[in-house]
Order: sequence, then structure tokens, then C-alpha cells
Amino acid sequence: MTENGDSTTPRAHGRVTRRTVLKAAGASALAAGAVTATGSSAAAEDGKPYDAIVVGAGYAGGTVARELGARGMKVLVLEARGRIGGRIEPGTLAGQHIELGGGWFGPGQDLVARELKRYSLTTTEDVHATRMVMPGPNGYASHSPQEAGARLNSLFADFYAGSEQYFERPYEPLHRKDLLASVDRLSLADRIAQLQLTGVDHDWVSGATSVFAGGNRTGSLTGLAQWYQLAGGTYDKFLSVMSELPQGGMISILERMLRESGATVSLNSPVTAIRERGGLTHVEVRGGRVHQAPVVVLATPVNMWSTLTFEPGLPKVYADAAREGLGVPHATKLWLRVRGTSEAVSAQAPEGAPILLLIPQKQLPDGRIFVAFTGPALDVSDPQAVRAAVRGLLPEARVVEYRAKEWHKDPYARGGWGLRRPGQLLRQLPDIQQPFGRIVFAGGDIASGWNGAFVEGALESGFRAAEQAATLAG
Ligand SMILES: Cc1cc2nc3c(=O)[nH]c(=O)nc-3n(C[C@H](O)[C@H](O)[C@H](O)COP(=O)(O)OP(=O)(O)OC[C@H]3O[C@@H](n4cnc5c(N)ncnc54)[C@H](O)[C@@H]3O)c2cc1C
Repeated sequence: MTENGDSTTPRAHGRVTRRTVLKAAGASALAAGAVTATGSSAAAEDGKPYDAIVVGAGYAGGTVARELGARGMKVLVLEARGRIGGRIEPGTLAGQHIELGGGWFGPGQDLVARELKRYSLTTTEDVHATRMVMPGPNGYASHSPQEAGARLNSLFADFYAGSEQYFERPYEPLHRKDLLASVDRLSLADRIAQLQLTGVDHDWVSGATSVFAGGNRTGSLTGLAQWYQLAGGTYDKFLSVMSELPQGGMISILERMLRESGATVSLNSPVTAIRERGGLTHVEVRGGRVHQAPVVVLATPVNMWSTLTFEPGLPKVYADAAREGLGVPHATKLWLRVRGTSEAVSAQAPEGAPILLLIPQKQLPDGRIFVAFTGPALDVSDPQAVRAAVRGLLPEARVVEYRAKEWHKDPYARGGWGLRRPGQLLRQLPDIQQPFGRIVFAGGDIASGWNGAFVEGALESGFRAAEQAATLAG
């Protein structure tokens, strides 16, 4: 395992050459912006001060950088990693492009669609499953996608009953604040208990919710219910959000956004402190270098906020969000090449199983690629355990090779995609979307609409943060 939890393909650590950095960052796409390998050459080359500093070169930070650049502002982006993208991370397995982080988008995600159009990028549809393996009374059983889909639709109509009212306007999650008090405190486990789900119904629901929540006790009912309503209020519409793939991978829009921004992107620049003094923010990078600007946009995962020093200290509502976290506590994406099954079979397991969800991908001459989301019960550094977990779902399958990314172990994510904890909606939104002094907060985790698990939300949050930053910068 490398320190990033990347279990089969160690990446180079230590010295990073300009060439490798440019490659990692998408050199051709970023050619118009300046990319530096370390903070040491990040000072404004023309001697003019920066108008804004953006911390984090993920989708939220990239959106802010482009929007501020469009206003003629001079922007410095400080990125902790040696690459852009954050929780979007392209990779390869068996010579195929894979996404170790976010990869899909779908209908209703209009901001992503608008960016694809802006950069003339096409999309492809993901593989459709031809068979579904689901928990049965005596082990796993096969169903047609239509049969399994109908049962899932019915189970989740009950599970999310009432959400069409409490999320009457899903893009404005607090519109029916009056109805939320009784539901926002519920975890997904509470909701399962409330419905007294048992047997196969329990297994079908608990697996489907825990895969999105990283555990049914930590994920909130309203977190998932909001996504369900954003998607159109049926389970098959919700699943269709994971149906399309952007040309060139999920990173391709961001590469173009950063190029268009004209911002200086300083890689390998982890920010350790943000201090506000004399009408300026002083942003300190590991190693001691300090950059100044009238405004700083913190576009890191919420789970990273507690690792930074703030002067003055963050008010309680931000400190609470930082302490509780928003990124799910377990998020492992596992890519596999499998022989022995040429069928496009998908599989779902109950909470507690080693693999919670297995999704068929491309058929190659020498096996099929699958992508899986695992639970804490599977140690992905143990190839025997991975093989056994796959065989548990597909007895005929033989794993040839695999690659896993454990986002909860990633030092600059400290969690997976975002999903609110019980009570966080009412206690923390919209307060944590507001600036504190000269610090503006951005990130998919704190979006109003497609928050947490979607690039769409990172874009939404980035547009809002850019407005706030432009106002503060005067
Ligand atoms: C396994 C997985 C699967 C997902 N699947 C999908 C999907 O299919 N579709 C979809 O739309 N979304 C998906 N998502 C969610 C999506 O990836 C995120 O919502 C989105 O990328 C968040 O963007 P962001 O800019 O808010 O945060 P991030 O992408 O996390 O960007 C934040 C940046 O801040 C940097 N940073 C952190 N700390 C510091 C510091 N101290 N100093 C400087 N920089 C710092 C990080 O390195 C990172 O580059 C998935 C996420 C995961 C983890």
C-alpha cells in the first residue's frame, strides 16, 4: 500500500520534476495557466499581488479560479497534491482508463452538461447490466434487471416516503424547514429500524444505502433522500445519475477550466494556516512560505478543515462541521479484471458484506472489467480476501488483477464523497456556506443541490463562492 491507500500501483513520491507535474496536471490543457511543482516559484511573476488565493484544485477550486479569472482577477491556486482533481483521480487498469474517484454523471446535472458543452466534450453511456445478483433467503439469487429494478423501486418508495414533501424543492433543501425537524435527526439505520425491515427486504435496502453512506449509522436519511428527490423521486432515476461518462474522463472539464482561468496553480503546496491581519489573508504553506491576498477561498473537503490553523478561530458552526466531518467514513473503490464471467452482471450485498456493490464495465478480450464499492469488512491489501469476496457474489469469477483506492485513508480527503450526518442539514446549512471574515468556503460537500457525491455540487458551490470572493475582494 502506498500512503494514498493505492494498493496495487504505487505512484512516485518524493521529488517531482516539472515534466511529471505538468503531465499529472494535464499539461496540454493547462498550457495557458502556470503550473508550478512546489510553492517556491508560486509568487506572482509580474510582481503584482494576487487578488485571491484558492486552496484546493478540485472541481470547486477550479470553478472559483475560472470565474474569478473571468472577472480579471489574478488568482493563485494552492494544491496540496502533486496533481489537480482531488476526489477525481484518473488511473489505468489493464490498459483501460479508470476512475479511482468520481466518474459518472447523469440526467438533471445541468451544470456538468453546460461545462461539457462549453468545452465541446462528448459523453458515452456506461455498460448496462444484463443480470443482477441480489441477496435471497438462502444466499444470493439472480434476477433480471427489470425484476430487481421493480422491487428496488417499491422498497425505496417506502423508504423515502414523505421526502417529496420535506424536499418539495430539492435544490432549496431548507424550503420546508418546518417538516425537516422530525426526519433530519434520523440516520439511515434509524429509518431501516423505523420501517421494521427484515429478511430479504432488509438486505436489499441496507446494502443499497450503506454503499452510499459508508455506514448506515453515520449517514443521514435526509442526505440520501435529497439526492433521491433531486434525481426525480424514483430509485431507477436515482441510479441513472451513474449512467454517463465524459469524454477523456471526469478530469477533462477541470483541466480546461484551469487552463481558461489563467491562474497560477502551485502543486505540492499543502496549506497549514490561514490568518487574517490588516485587511489581508496570510495563507501559510507547509515549509513556512506565506502568500497574501485580500480574500482566500477554502475549497478543500470539509474533513480537511480541522487540519488547518485559523486566526481568528472558526466560529462554532464551522468548527462543528469540521469536527463531525462530511466525507463518508469509509469509501473504497475497487477496480478488477475478472475472467470466468463474460456476462455484464451486477451484484449488490447487504450492509456488512465485504463487497457492497459490483458494477460491470468493459468486456476485454482477456476478461471483463468490474468496478466495486467495498465495506470495512474487506481488507483490499489482501489479494486472497479480494478474490474470495468476488467469488462470494460471482462463484464463477476469477480475479486476474485489481486496483483499489481507500479515500478515507487519503491524507488530503480524510473521507470519501460527502454525505451529511444526522442533524447536520438543520444545524449547519446555510451558515457554513457563508464567508467568515475574508475566508470563503467552497466544495461539493457544502453545496445546496447535488451536495457531497457529485461534481455537479462542486460546480454549484464554486459559482457561489466566486461571487462571494469577488464581492469581498472589492
Ligand atoms: C470514490 C468516489 C466516487 C465518486 N463518484 C462520483 C461520481 O460518480 N460522480 C460524481 O459526480 N461525483 C462523484 N464523487 C464525488 C466527487 O468526486 C466530489 O463531489 C467532487 O470531486 C468534489 O470536488 P471538490 O472540489 O469539492 O473537492 P475535492 O475534489 O476533494 O478537491 C479539494 C482539493 O483540495 C486539496 N486540498 C486538501 N487539503 C488541502 C490543503 N491543506 N492545502 C491545499 N490543498 C488541499 C485536495 O488535494 C483536493 O485537490 C465521488 C467521490 C469519491 C471519493
